Amino acid sequence: MPADPRQSPSLLGSRCGACATVVFPTMPVCPACRRNGTMQEIEIGRTGRLFSHTIARVAPKGFKAPFFQAFVDLDEGPRIFTLVGAQCPVEDGVLEDGMPMRLVVEPMADTPENKDLLTYKYVPADRPRGSKAVNRRGGNA
Ligand SMILES: [Zn+2]
Repeated sequence: MPADPRQSPSLLGSRCGACATVVFPTMPVCPACRRNGTMQEIEIGRTGRLFSHTIARVAPKGFKAPFFQAFVDLDEGPRIFTLVGAQCPVEDGVLEDGMPMRLVVEPMADTPENKDLLTYKYVPADRPRGSKAVNRRGGNA
């Protein structure tokens, strides 16, 4: 993941120059055609579609429950596990499988253990965008 969240965030994946398979995270050997040395780093994951989601009712250490866990199919192909951005209220019916999603970068969780640890998350893409800043704090949405 690029370190600077002020730029349009993206994930760093690999694309095979031989068979065009895209993987995330980066891999040195293509998992599809097994060639070595064909993988090139590319920026992926700015947008995708929600494949499935669930609400976790029990929080692991460093997280607050409930929170969303989701799988997102990136436009480039890979299906990734992800958390959902804090701007998205954790309620049934907020997320719908198949809906377009976009990448944001924000703290892993609003807890002492994880508030300084930035990670990628996804939020519904078609929510009104009142601000270009995806990483603002304060929750005044
Ligand atoms: Zn390949």
